[in-house]
Amino acid sequence: MLRQRVQAKVLVAMFIVTTFVAAPLASLAQKVSPVAPARAQVEAVVKEAYDKFKNDPGGKNADYIPYLAQVDSKLFGIAIVTTDNQELSMGDIKYAFSIQSISKVFSQALAMEELGPDKVLDKVGNEPTGRAFNSVFAVADMPTHTGNPYVNAGAISTVSLISAKTADEKWNKILDFYSRVAGEKLTLIDEVYKSEAATNTGNKALSMLLAKYDRIYADPFESVDVYTKQCSVGVNVVQLARMGATLANNGKNPKTGEQVIKPENVPHILSTMIMAGLYDGSGGWAWHVGLPAKSGVGGGIVAIVPGKGAIAVFAPPLDEAGNSVKAQKVIQYVANRLDFNLFSPRSVGLKATE
Ligand code: GLN
Repeated sequence: MLRQRVQAKVLVAMFIVTTFVAAPLASLAQKVSPVAPARAQVEAVVKEAYDKFKNDPGGKNADYIPYLAQVDSKLFGIAIVTTDNQELSMGDIKYAFSIQSISKVFSQALAMEELGPDKVLDKVGNEPTGRAFNSVFAVADMPTHTGNPYVNAGAISTVSLISAKTADEKWNKILDFYSRVAGEKLTLIDEVYKSEAATNTGNKALSMLLAKYDRIYADPFESVDVYTKQCSVGVNVVQLARMGATLANNGKNPKTGEQVIKPENVPHILSTMIMAGLYDGSGGWAWHVGLPAKSGVGGGIVAIVPGKGAIAVFAPPLDEAGNSVKAQKVIQYVANRLDFNLFSPRSVGLKATE
């Protein structure tokens, strides 16, 4: 009798241990990914990068858009958002800067939501131009004329594809879409818009040239105006990282849980980012960093680590191609230290054997 009672107690104790202790521990162990670095490790590497490049003197603010020339060139912020919605940020993380060309990624995504990827590929293309982002020569020379959705001509053409009855409706649709990708309401920086709208004769010329080749699909100047607005959307570096994390997370916003971009469109978007995300600096970027990324002349760059998250950096001084100097250095440093380069077998945990 006594023996039976002891046996029963042992069974109950075993049940408690397996249910309340061992099972949660096992699931915790499963959560530790073999390829995603631990938070403390990421924090340490980001801090190193921040300190190392904070006073880097390279580059110069964009000045062809008057507003951008007077932005404080010392501003510097870094943010990481993961696919499980962890955030890590450092420096000037509240400052809203203009998204500029990074917007092109999300208008490409919206056009694909509406028309499907094949149509967007057919109407805009996906080839590098090997020229500056605002090149007129590329439009005249390239068989597609549009090049890809990330040079100005291709981006203006992409905007023209998005359906709407009026320019205002199209603009609101774009802003709403970007906000859903960011998981927060984004707004226009009116001063940036006015400054750029008053000086963007080059983009208007590109739109007329596209019309000559039948590669713009709505009114050319109206398309330029909506494009100028989308470039003037304000984001802080954390919001930008979260927009990237939505791409890293198969198009599902990690904060709101909304499936904003169809999962099947994400690889197409990332292909454009690796091929043209840093314009005529894209080949060097792929060589050194190996991550799909997009830059803007406002000083932001966001890089995507598929399945894991995104890193965004904001620092206004740019190189000759129009890419933030500090942002490139920080992302290269972090990607290298944490084995993020997608072309490296180490990015999926395969270590070199001695
Ligand atoms: N709005 C800018 C332009 O049209 C965007 C360019 C950029 O960020 N590279 O020139």
